Amino acid sequence: MISPKDLSKDMMWEATVTCDSTFDGRFYYAVKTTGIFCRPSCKSKIPKYENVSFFLNAEEALKTGFRPCKRCRPDLQLKTYEPLKAIIDDTMQIINSHYDQKMLMNELASMVGVSRFHLNRLFKDSTGDTPRIYLEKVRIKKAKELLLTTSLNSTEVGYQIGYQSISSFYNAFKRSTGLSPIQFQNQYVKSPTT
Ligand SMILES: [Zn+2]
Repeated sequence: MISPKDLSKDMMWEATVTCDSTFDGRFYYAVKTTGIFCRPSCKSKIPKYENVSFFLNAEEALKTGFRPCKRCRPDLQLKTYEPLKAIIDDTMQIINSHYDQKMLMNELASMVGVSRFHLNRLFKDSTGDTPRIYLEKVRIKKAKELLLTTSLNSTEVGYQIGYQSISSFYNAFKRSTGLSPIQFQNQYVKSPTT
């Protein structure tokens, strides 16, 4: 049972009894006798005070073992409540599936609906990398695969994974592995045994 300073148990109870939708998303109430939790605005029968416990988010209520009410669907808020996560997921998905194409960070940002500056900050806060660094990691991982499993030479690999210039591929590869693509190939590719 959590109750921050600005949200007393009395306030939450009052919002529950009055089905006050302005509190939706700020807390959830769960009913011990039914095992169900609701948003404050839910129009289901008002429970008895002694059977109610309050949660500040739906995850907590779920973790405690309550089921979401079918009427007010407090669980659906879990998804709509995380717009930032959706931006990060979309960004990763676009990079994972388009890493082999020329990718401008401005365009990437507009595809996920935010400014480049905003995306950089969000993405870095969430993953520790900027989208550009993430893209580089995805490309270098793919480059290693190609160098190890195909007969493509390093120049071909660079173009195949979306680099527009071979020097930027070499630099990125070296930053990541400490080796040039050719050194990497020499070191790790087993010569075919005949
Ligand atoms: Zn409900």
